[in-house]
Amino acid sequence: MLNFILVKEMCVKGFAHIIRRSTLVNLWPLLLPAAAFSGWVAAHRNPHKKIERQTNRLSREYVVGLNYLLNEQPDKAVDIFIKLLEVDSETVETHLALGSLFRRRGEVDRAIRIHQNLIARPQLSLSERKEALMALGQDYMSAGVFDRAERIFLEVVDLGGRGEARSLQELMAIYQQEKAWDKALNTLHKFELVTGQTLATQAAHFHCEIAEQYLKRNQIDKAFQSIRQALAVDKLCVRASLMQATLEMRQGRYKIAIRALRRVPQQDAEFLSEIISPLVHCYREINTMEECIEFLQKTLWDHPRASTIFVIADYIREKEGMDQAVDFVSEQLQKHPSIRGLNRLIFWHLESAQGKVRDKLQMLYAITSKFLDDKPIYRCGHCGFGGKHLHWQCPSCKQWSRTKPVHGLEGD
Ligand SMILES: [Zn+2]
Repeated sequence: MLNFILVKEMCVKGFAHIIRRSTLVNLWPLLLPAAAFSGWVAAHRNPHKKIERQTNRLSREYVVGLNYLLNEQPDKAVDIFIKLLEVDSETVETHLALGSLFRRRGEVDRAIRIHQNLIARPQLSLSERKEALMALGQDYMSAGVFDRAERIFLEVVDLGGRGEARSLQELMAIYQQEKAWDKALNTLHKFELVTGQTLATQAAHFHCEIAEQYLKRNQIDKAFQSIRQALAVDKLCVRASLMQATLEMRQGRYKIAIRALRRVPQQDAEFLSEIISPLVHCYREINTMEECIEFLQKTLWDHPRASTIFVIADYIREKEGMDQAVDFVSEQLQKHPSIRGLNRLIFWHLESAQGKVRDKLQMLYAITSKFLDDKPIYRCGHCGFGGKHLHWQCPSCKQWSRTKPVHGLEGD
């Protein structure tokens, strides 16, 4: 409706040629801020002629600014909008909208100019100043100038009140980007205090990240301590259990490692395939593979996974021979069809096949192997990002603990 009013006004003022010259699809987003201003003008119509003359002049100047935008001369447009702000600070909202529009279009320098100009105005109210500061902080984030963005969001946090929680979230994003995990953790605690929300999953990952940093410096005890802290804030943290198991294995404490690994299916059964290989390693080290197979057979009932089937099948092959192992895999495949299982079955048949049968099996093996090579092993449940590596923080949507192993026909 506001857009319609503005277009009508512009036609009356003889700017119809602007509309004709421009692609309407590109035009609408540019019209929004000016349309908002037009609405403001309409809402503040005053019987006094002086004010009417002033609003007419403002309206005219806005149309001139708009004309520059439409003619792809945004710097001149920015000059006009900034000049207008000096005339009347009532246009703060419009300038914020215009600045964010420039940022969304990737024109961060112009967004920064507009927002810096707003902040320089002494007569801004506290809430307007905070809005402008946060907008400028986002400009710097978009430009990748994190140190400036950090300073600005810290200023908003110091001011307190509305905007504090949002700024703390932005600061957390900056510290995560910079891998400054101690700062990220402190900011998270402040955010929890301010909002009353609990970010246990995120906090546990920050502790795990700190543990990783200790490990790089070979500070094993401190790493263990951070892992314990991760489990204390989030007892469902799979990553902490896996890290603990890896460290215990490194120290040769296989029984403790097994306990940590066997915790994982209760924490999140989706990660079961992550424990199979280390679990087999630990049980082999202490010569108790029967116990391992018993545990895996129990999990197979509730959580059928190709990797579990392979370990049990290998064990059967070792103890009872190839025929029994093939029978076991075939039986499991009927219950839980999987390309990975089929691929393994073909591979085993290849060992004893000859002549034309072998050629055909070879072809089938190549096809299923290629199919599996192209499939992601992990996928983010939030944004769908897939890959061959497990990222605790999704590289695409930045969510924690949302990337998990893929199951079913094409997965494990
Ligand atoms: Zn994602």
